[in-house]
Amino acid sequence: MTKKIVLLPGDGIGAEVIDSAKQVLDAIAEEYNHTFSYETHAIGGSAIDEHGTPLPDETTAACKSADAVLLGAVGGPKWDQNPSHLRPEKGLLGIRKALDLFANLRPIQGFDNLLHASPLKEEVVKGSDLLIVRELTGGLYFGTPSERRNNGHSVVDTLAYERAEIERIVDKAFQAASIRRKHLTSVDKANVLESSKLWREVVEEKKENYPDITVEHMLVDAAAMRLITNPSYFDVIVTENMFGDILSDEASVLTGSLGMLPSASLREDSFGLYEPVHGSAPDIAGQGIANPLAMILSAALLLRHSFNLDNEARIVESAVQNVLEQGYHTGDLNIIDGQKVGTEKMTERVVDYI
Ligand code: ATP
Ligand code: MG
Repeated sequence: MTKKIVLLPGDGIGAEVIDSAKQVLDAIAEEYNHTFSYETHAIGGSAIDEHGTPLPDETTAACKSADAVLLGAVGGPKWDQNPSHLRPEKGLLGIRKALDLFANLRPIQGFDNLLHASPLKEEVVKGSDLLIVRELTGGLYFGTPSERRNNGHSVVDTLAYERAEIERIVDKAFQAASIRRKHLTSVDKANVLESSKLWREVVEEKKENYPDITVEHMLVDAAAMRLITNPSYFDVIVTENMFGDILSDEASVLTGSLGMLPSASLREDSFGLYEPVHGSAPDIAGQGIANPLAMILSAALLLRHSFNLDNEARIVESAVQNVLEQGYHTGDLNIIDGQKVGTEKMTERVVDYI
């Protein structure tokens, strides 16, 4: 298979860990006879420094002509005082919008060797392996601009969805569930919200197309509680933008470190943008100690969702599992035993396994 990947290293540790992901993709390409070509472009603070804008036109154009995009992270104290159009985060929001990425996938897994790194009890975290599918371009965060207001006495935010917007995210979730354990939980607040009633209706309609998937509806408050009392109950969760934002941060405590969490942002076709959940971590940037696993696991998602290479994605995921089992870990993981290593060594161990 021949594919073009755009690399957007961005700022801070983003630029360090993206190189790890590239090494892993190269190892997969060599082992399984694929040809991946790369183009690197600027985004975020480094793009402001080089091009005077957080999202240069050439970056957007390159992403549009690629098969998939890998992004490191953007931001840092250097640009904190910049005016709003010169903020690194504008680059990230801008590229998501320009590429119409409406589906945000966040897999969350309690790795056996990291169970005690979580603040939750080991027996609760053990065996948890879930995927949150969050709607990313609609709902309360966007609303209806003409209705949004704040006059100092009264404020209005609107939660608006078109049926088609719900259909496409629900389809993504069913597709994701069909290559997992085939259990889909649709999370809403249908006892009080109109938007949730339509959401439920769409899920009920769509499930006819996926007869092998078990579907249930759960209210968001109940889901929030079950996520930390019995996380292994869940396989795939699908939900609207704000519920997804809150639940995915809540679920991130299962893994014990931000440095372990990958994400995918997708649209209807196979194209996607893949990035770690963590930010540019300016406090540890340039020291060679960043955990590359979130970025490497993001590359696994790229193989799975954009290139349909589920086997290769699993190989990368097993490699990560394996190096953790061997006791290798970076400093962000709260582990006493085993061997503490830096970004480069960790990457080397993963590549060796592949
Ligand atoms: P953003 O605003 O971009 O979300 P943030 O400040 O919320 O950024 P991060 O930049 O992700 O969050 O950093 C939060 C903390 O987690 C920092 O102390 C950072 O060093 C640590 N951290 C984040 N990612 C990693 C990683 N891959 N390896 C090691 N430590 C990390
Ligand atoms: Mg943050």
